[in-house]
Amino acid sequence: MKSLDLKAFRQKVSRKKKIYTTFLRGLHRRKVRGIDPMAIRLNHESFREIDCRTCANCCKTMTPTYTKSDIRRIAAHVNMTPEAYKEKYLYLDDSGDWMHYNLPCHFLGKDNLCTIYDIRPLDCRGFPHTHKKDFVNAATVNIQNITYCPATFRIVEKMYEKIILKK
Ligand code: SF4
Ligand code: SF4
Repeated sequence: MKSLDLKAFRQKVSRKKKIYTTFLRGLHRRKVRGIDPMAIRLNHESFREIDCRTCANCCKTMTPTYTKSDIRRIAAHVNMTPEAYKEKYLYLDDSGDWMHYNLPCHFLGKDNLCTIYDIRPLDCRGFPHTHKKDFVNAATVNIQNITYCPATFRIVEKMYEKIILKK
């Protein structure tokens, strides 16, 4: 399977990030009707165009946030106590969330697949969270994710085309 061209993606991000950041920040003022169903539709379309197995950029460049039960479940899977798992792989950030010390994620395989897929952290399961309700109020998360996630970028690109360019 051909890898997604992440260099070309980063170049596109540097050209468009400012425009899409302003767009996402201003969405709440536009009061677009039906924006959540639109986001869900664009989410499906974008993930049909982009195969995560050719990308894995989230697992390479971002850390998931662990819940307590993520830590218990995953530590048990690798035969460690939660404390030992935290000591070896995680740190507590300023908001009190447990995050990965090192990137790429230690569970990412050479084939771009997650080696603990069925028990991965809840945050990984939901990422990039663009299928959830309240797209407008998720602006901060989406602004961050357009830099790392080609699917999020594509969703925002399509939304911008529909709302601003009226395509
Ligand atoms: S646990 Fe799996 S899905 Fe989550 S960051 Fe690591 S490799 Fe990616
Ligand atoms: S969720 Fe986004 S960053 Fe992660 S693999 Fe899929 S397209 Fe890439």
